[in-house]
Amino acid sequence: MSRRGQRAADALAALRKDDAAVRRPAGVDRVEDGFVVRNVGTSDVAYRCPGCDHEFAGVPHVVAWPEGDPDARRHWHTPCWAARTRRRRR
Ligand SMILES: [Zn+2]
Repeated sequence: MSRRGQRAADALAALRKDDAAVRRPAGVDRVEDGFVVRNVGTSDVAYRCPGCDHEFAGVPHVVAWPEGDPDARRHWHTPCWAARTRRRRR
């Protein structure tokens, strides 16, 4: 694992530890398929969903990013995120 990857892994481990410490409240991060996923509430900011390539705002949705790379986070419609995993090939 690269040094940067190790740092990211450490940061994620700390995140998980924090989650345990506060007993995973609503809106807690979870890990799916190598991505950290968080359900979030409505926002006035418009985001472009990578799943359907449409902008949306004002709806509860999902934020997901590759483990250890929160700068790469994306905002998805909740159903689009779910469809992404169903559509995944290999
Ligand atoms: Zn979408």
